Amino acid sequence: MLNNDELLLILADSKDATAVYDSAELRIRFVNEGMLAFWGKDNSIKGKTLSEAIPELRVQPFEQLLLKVWASGETYSATDTPATLLIDGNPKTSFFDFEYRPIKDVSGKTIAILHTAIDVTSRLLALKQVEEKQKREDELIAELTATNQSVKLANESLSGINNDLRASNESINRLNERLLESETDFKRLVAQSPVAIMVFRGPELVIELVNQPMLDILHRDDSVIGYPILMSMPELKGEPAVELIFEVYRSGKGFDGNEAPVKMMRNGETETRYFNFSYRPLMDGGRVVGVMDIAVEVTGQVLSRRRLEAIISEKTVLEHHLRANEQRLQGILDTIAEGVVIVNENGTPIYSNPMAWKIMGIDAATFTDRRYNDAKWKNERIDGSTLPAEDHPMHIALRTGMAVYDQEIAILMPGKEKIFISVNAAPLINEHERVSACIVTFTDVTSRRKILQEKDDFISVASHELKTPVTSLKASLQLLTRLIPAETPGMAAKLVDQANRSLNKLSDLINALLNSNRLSQGRFPVHRSHFKIAELINECCQHIRTAGTHQIVLNGDRQLEINADEQLIDQVLINFVNNAVKYAPQSKEIIIEVTASDVEIKISVTDFGPGIPREKLPHIFERYYRANHISQQVSGLGLGLFISAEIIRNHGGKIGAESEEGKGSTFWFALPRN
Ligand code: ADP
Repeated sequence: MLNNDELLLILADSKDATAVYDSAELRIRFVNEGMLAFWGKDNSIKGKTLSEAIPELRVQPFEQLLLKVWASGETYSATDTPATLLIDGNPKTSFFDFEYRPIKDVSGKTIAILHTAIDVTSRLLALKQVEEKQKREDELIAELTATNQSVKLANESLSGINNDLRASNESINRLNERLLESETDFKRLVAQSPVAIMVFRGPELVIELVNQPMLDILHRDDSVIGYPILMSMPELKGEPAVELIFEVYRSGKGFDGNEAPVKMMRNGETETRYFNFSYRPLMDGGRVVGVMDIAVEVTGQVLSRRRLEAIISEKTVLEHHLRANEQRLQGILDTIAEGVVIVNENGTPIYSNPMAWKIMGIDAATFTDRRYNDAKWKNERIDGSTLPAEDHPMHIALRTGMAVYDQEIAILMPGKEKIFISVNAAPLINEHERVSACIVTFTDVTSRRKILQEKDDFISVASHELKTPVTSLKASLQLLTRLIPAETPGMAAKLVDQANRSLNKLSDLINALLNSNRLSQGRFPVHRSHFKIAELINECCQHIRTAGTHQIVLNGDRQLEINADEQLIDQVLINFVNNAVKYAPQSKEIIIEVTASDVEIKISVTDFGPGIPREKLPHIFERYYRANHISQQVSGLGLGLFISAEIIRNHGGKIGAESEEGKGSTFWFALPRN
């Protein structure tokens, strides 16, 4: 059996590093070279406790582990455990496989701990290197896998791209086809468009496309295609419309023009035409490559609008004149001394001027609801008889469409003095040739009428007063005639004869004056009797036959009898015949004609003298009216026809005259048979 020291010697030779602790304080009993090398210490540490010998171990777990082994009596071993020790004053960490084995006595009590250790640092490092290499390899493998993955993905997407590429190639092909189609479509569209279209390419504006309407405008054929515009149509150089196309090409901005004038050659002459046009740049990849010109000719519209404008401005001038005229007219109407009234076709006033209001003595407002035959007043003839509505000048103008001149009427308004007005009434004819209104002018002749009345009164009195002396003069002359013996020649008889004739004339004149007054006052009794008209005519023409200047021709039924006042009809006939002799001295013949119908007997006297002017004819039956210039050299009062008319009117008959200047006149009257 080896003793302890012998055992320790064996341990000292052991290749493994060994130490022995023989107390619970871990006093180092033995340590070999191997262990000292590990610890970086020398033999001086023998007999010291572990913490005294290696203070740096105090902060490491080893002491605790040793104490636990001492107390428990159980071996503790560990591998690859790091321990940091001061080697040559520098801390160094190495790795160890180690074992703490308790040494026990027979009773099982721990009497020592055998500590063996192997430095495995280099093994660990190698292991670490292997590990790191492995790790790197793993990483590389991972990386490779990832790369493979992405290569796979890339491959996949590549094939996707390839697919896309193929698809896009196909669609490009399709697009190209469609482009070709649409280009053809576009060309067809241009060709068939009713609107003029021209397409230019390049900065020189080479005509690429042009349709027939455009060629018609330009007056060209399609030989212009393929040439720059200014080469094929040099006359357009400098034309603003063409300059603009160049501008659109340069700027890339479209331009629209309205009613732009363009000078053009037509049949060898320059002519201005008007166009609405639109220039649009043709773009390719953001670059201008051409210009499209779309034009619509509006020459017709422009010219007709201008004509219209000219008409309108002419109309404006006319309107201006019209307005000025209207104002002038208004001024005249406002100030003239004549009343002016316009009535519509029903006779209702639609206009009246201030003088009309003044003459009638009613205000403007009242005027508009008064008709000429208003029940509020009475219309009279100048002789005082009632004027029936149908004889009113307005009525005549409205119903017959004939103008009435200078007709005097009296108006009697309640509570007012009778007024006399002289009326002119003229119809207004509308575009359908119908009477649509009547314009009436009138003057107040009340004072003139009064003077005439006074004159009539005077004539009446004077002629009455003259009648008595003339009658006694006539009686005296008759006595004187009887006193002169029939066979007495010479002066006396001649003078008496002359005196007689003058006196007869004077007496006729006085009678005419008296009669006219009586007539105008309606004081003229008619004494009817039956007599043969031919006989009456013969008697009253006797003096003319005697004179021998005219030949009297009597036509018609000589047996015809008439029922009338013989004396008055005689007066009418004498007047007609005397007038024919007086006013138609050159007329050789005077024709008297008697015609009869069932209802009336008409007697007319025709001469072939100078006749009566047309405008005077309507007045010749008026009192004191004398028509002819010639008549001024023929004496007369202008009463004969007036008296005749009154006589015939009192018989309920009609009287009238027809005449043509230079050819002769016919005066007639007609009496009802019963
Ligand atoms: P007086 O003979 O006194 O003038 P009348 O009343 O008989 O008056 O005639 C009126 C007017 O008519 C005349 O002044 C005359 O101008 C015109 N006149 C009448 N009879 C004729 C006639 N036969 N030819 C032309 N004019 C006539």
